[in-house]
Amino acid sequence: MSSDRIKIVWIYPDLLSTYGDQGNTIVLERRAALRGIPTETVNLRSDEPVPADGDIYLLGGGEDRPQILAAQRLAGDGGLARAVQSGAVVFGVCAGYQLLGHEFGGEEGQPVAGLGLLDIRSGRGEQRAVGEIVGDVAGELNVPRITGFENHQGVTQLGQNARPFARVVHGIGNGDGFEGAYSGRVLGTYMHGPALVRNPGLADLLLRWAVGRDLQPLDDSWAGRLREERLSAVAAG
Ligand code: GLN
Repeated sequence: MSSDRIKIVWIYPDLLSTYGDQGNTIVLERRAALRGIPTETVNLRSDEPVPADGDIYLLGGGEDRPQILAAQRLAGDGGLARAVQSGAVVFGVCAGYQLLGHEFGGEEGQPVAGLGLLDIRSGRGEQRAVGEIVGDVAGELNVPRITGFENHQGVTQLGQNARPFARVVHGIGNGDGFEGAYSGRVLGTYMHGPALVRNPGLADLLLRWAVGRDLQPLDDSWAGRLREERLSAVAAG
């Protein structure tokens, strides 16, 4: 990161933004600004080269065919892999999470090559996972209980070099009792919602990784109320 600003690259809004995941970009900008940290956001279309100098790369959800196209273009471009090697933060949601792995299931369930930036493999599950998801995040990440919304057919297995992001309290997630995965500063999740709007603690984790230091706390009472409301709705069934 250059000393005075965070460069956010929103990868392929023309392919990977089916579920309103743009909200994640806005949350990062806002929470950085409240700490006096300026941001620059690049909305990177899929016919443009991936800049290697981003600090945080965001990938959203998408349907099967746009997901395959996005994976092919990102693999051909190589910029995201270079950015990861230089320590950039990557946050992938659902389709964007799956395509960070070694492979994922295409529209007929066929294996499609991913980017291999996370040690995970996804395939097609028996049933679509749709609904609220709640999870307790790996302790070392220091993020409070997460809530989100999932909508995916895929199931994901973690390899030895990826750690589960959260233990599922409610919902499906990866399908193995855990939700999401991370390795270094590359983190993926099945949570839409958008995830960072509902989970400011997760937004702050990405910002902390990007700036390399702790950040001053903010008043998150509104997000806290939303979390309580969603947890009550889940508990009520
Ligand atoms: N196509 C993928 C799946 O169904 C991702 C879906 C999504 O991004 N919501 O698993």
